[in-house]
Amino acid sequence: MTRATRDRVWDAVPLRSIEQAGERPAGEGHPLDLGHLDPATEAQVLARLLSRDFDAWSEAASRVGHCARPIRLHGSSQTVDARTGEVLSSFSSADSPLGVLHVRCGNRRGSECPSCSRLYAADTFHLIRAGVIGGKGVPEQVGENPLVFATLTAPSFGLVHGTRGGRACRPFTTKGQHRVCEHGRPTVCHTKHADGDELLGQPLCRDCYDYESHLVWQWWAPELWRRFTIDLRRTLAKQLGVPASRLAELVTVQYAKVAEYQLRGIVHFHALIRLDGPKTDAGFAPAPAGLTAALLARLVEQAAAGVSFDAPPLHQGDVTRRLRFGAQLDARPIAAARRTDDPDRALTPEQVAGYLAKYATKSATDSANTDSPHARRLRATIVAIVDRQRAEAAANDQPMAEHPYGLLFKWRHMLGFRGHFSTKSRRYSVTLGQLRRRRVRYERALAAANREGRTLDVRDLDDLLQDETEETTLVIGHWTYAGTGWDTDGDTELAKAAAARAREYAQERARARKTPCIDQFDRNEREGD
Ligand SMILES: [Zn+2]
Ligand SMILES: [Zn+2]
Ligand SMILES: [Zn+2]
Repeated sequence: MTRATRDRVWDAVPLRSIEQAGERPAGEGHPLDLGHLDPATEAQVLARLLSRDFDAWSEAASRVGHCARPIRLHGSSQTVDARTGEVLSSFSSADSPLGVLHVRCGNRRGSECPSCSRLYAADTFHLIRAGVIGGKGVPEQVGENPLVFATLTAPSFGLVHGTRGGRACRPFTTKGQHRVCEHGRPTVCHTKHADGDELLGQPLCRDCYDYESHLVWQWWAPELWRRFTIDLRRTLAKQLGVPASRLAELVTVQYAKVAEYQLRGIVHFHALIRLDGPKTDAGFAPAPAGLTAALLARLVEQAAAGVSFDAPPLHQGDVTRRLRFGAQLDARPIAAARRTDDPDRALTPEQVAGYLAKYATKSATDSANTDSPHARRLRATIVAIVDRQRAEAAANDQPMAEHPYGLLFKWRHMLGFRGHFSTKSRRYSVTLGQLRRRRVRYERALAAANREGRTLDVRDLDDLLQDETEETTLVIGHWTYAGTGWDTDGDTELAKAAAARAREYAQERARARKTPCIDQFDRNEREGD
């Protein structure tokens, strides 16, 4: 495809997000990047461009934010006044540009749908940021409460290659260790591994590496986290000299956490942990005087170091393992909005929110090389464990469902991690649901403004975001599933390219306006500041 053709596509793809902000769509500087297409897909792209319903297609695509795999629905719905029963409006898929309603796939993984995962990352970013400095209905004073950024890692299950900040990987043996393991492989590595080196995260010897313990830890990681939150409350109660049962009368602990895969195929947790005052209906109460972020950081490290869980054996004859977090615990105070008590702080609230939001959209397949010999060995170990458990269950006439590792096989693609990638406590911030409902309200208001030929005042937006009034309308619909995805690979590539363009433009806009958003963070990260 020629550059000119690509540019034509680009110009033809409407950018609703830009138009709705009342700005001129920026054509130059954002060439359409369709990547490398095979001839068949390229032919589909061209056919779409020349098709009579191209305008309808691009309208449908922009309505779902250029989602890569939208869900298609047939049917209709009516909006009804909840009190009077009056039908206020009706909508049918036949009225949609392509005669079928497209709905975003909502996938959180960047590798599955760039557009939906970006939306999720943006929502997560705002949710996490609001919990740090307020906004979106969270009071600004929340920024005064002690806040800590903590990283809880897994322990070591064997030597693996690492970057070590540019130094040699593993130049020395530990005391009493031979330079060669019992399998004849070196226990030292003098290489300075660069980023992207395929060896990173791979064991020095896969036969020495403790795959079963690795998987047991990964399987129970959510339980370790749960115990950590309980132990942190206990530690706090002890510090304050009150029984744990009465802690909530003085302080509450709020957090947002994400799980991130390390290169060695095991998760670690990043968390923002905030100390609020006593439990109230509204939440976000000021913390009592004297409880500083530095103290909270110490208590977090203390609690995390003390957490343990005795994991049940994998099979008959296996041992009970006492699981703990790794020694590389890190908890540091975050100085938010108006606090300047730590001028040397390395992280701003924006950066922390950005890190967490970014991790929240990554899965095992995005972060670790799941096709490496190490990852294959992890999955093979799962298969071996499950085979053995099944044989034992059959011999003892026990159902597998009752086995503590009965679902391990189901989670083999996650390398045995069954937890949520991103979780938060109830009063940490707003919820993703609230953010979504507000967006729906915003889009409705925008559609109404477009119909009536007026522009939506951006200042109304804040009111809209604050608006939590009771819904007085009901939506009654009947919908049937008509399929998933666009008609052709060419359509999918076009949608992805348009989503990428919208993202680039949003980054440029964020840079120009210096508005806090996930795109701003992406840019900062690329430039390395
Ligand atoms: Zn999608
Ligand atoms: Zn190495
Ligand atoms: Zn070995």
